[in-house]
Amino acid sequence: MKIHFTPHWLEFKHPFTLSVGSRTHTPIVITEIEHEGFIGFGEASMPPYLGESHESVVAFLQKAKNILEKISGDFSIENIMLEIDALEKNNTAAKASVDIALHDLQGKIKNKPCYEILSINPSNMPLTFFTLGMDEPKVLEEKIKEADEWKILKIKLGSENDKKRIEFIRSITDKPIAIDVNQGWKDKFFVYDMLCWLKEKNILFVEQPMPKEMKEEMQWLKEKSPVLLFGDESVQRLNDITEAAQIFHGINIKLMKCTGMSEAIKMIERARELNLKIMIGCMSETSCANAAAAQLAPLTDWADLDGPALIKKDLFSGFEVKNGKVKPNNLPGIGVYLKK
Ligand code: MG
Repeated sequence: MKIHFTPHWLEFKHPFTLSVGSRTHTPIVITEIEHEGFIGFGEASMPPYLGESHESVVAFLQKAKNILEKISGDFSIENIMLEIDALEKNNTAAKASVDIALHDLQGKIKNKPCYEILSINPSNMPLTFFTLGMDEPKVLEEKIKEADEWKILKIKLGSENDKKRIEFIRSITDKPIAIDVNQGWKDKFFVYDMLCWLKEKNILFVEQPMPKEMKEEMQWLKEKSPVLLFGDESVQRLNDITEAAQIFHGINIKLMKCTGMSEAIKMIERARELNLKIMIGCMSETSCANAAAAQLAPLTDWADLDGPALIKKDLFSGFEVKNGKVKPNNLPGIGVYLKK
């Protein structure tokens, strides 16, 4: 087995603004794993809060190379990922790029889509969100028009103008919306008042309203909240789910946080045992990582796979959103191919 990796910068169509700051570009690394004449593609995307960078991903993949180069013939993704995971404590996006590339590779070798290998029915694909950052009204209006194909929207909140923004959005569209605060609200009484106000606005759920450290406050809110509360920054890997079930009604699983598809499947199983709602989300990334998440999306309640829609230039083809849902294709592996 051989591995190659290439750092890239993805440029956003519009600057992306959250309660924690604004960005125009995002760093990613494309990973290729070659075996028996086939190439599997994977991707690492590094949002600032996970602490990874081009340098840290490249350094990690150099170490992963030693493990992968020893493999010949048949392979078990689970066994390889156990070894990869044990290399370093964090580096979850770098690990995810290896896991995605191995799934893509396995699909190509077997000439089957990953969902088929995993016995997932693609006709259960849920609706997917289109995300609106904390933009000026003119930009918001433009983005809502761009999102015509999407049936549900996700709105980033966490500033003084939150109510105004929701009212402005509601003056343009009545599509169901989810709210993502990205840890931006700090006072539980304020949050409770906001949740009661939001309840009347056709809201599906509110994601990560408070900082991940504020667990007691979140538990207090869960007991009283008139709307569903989801954990994102609070829930990264399988081991976080039991605690998350105490303070949230649902979780946002992302391949970049949880080391890839293998662990995401385990997280979905565990979350269902605990009666949690599930969304499968993405970072700012190309069709590659989004298509990998889409293979698992039929097991979840909502998808949030708009990464390719928010960037200027995608590196892959094959990933498509139609009628508000990711449209499954029958290509082998994760179902995307490099653009010429
Ligand atoms: Mg989020």
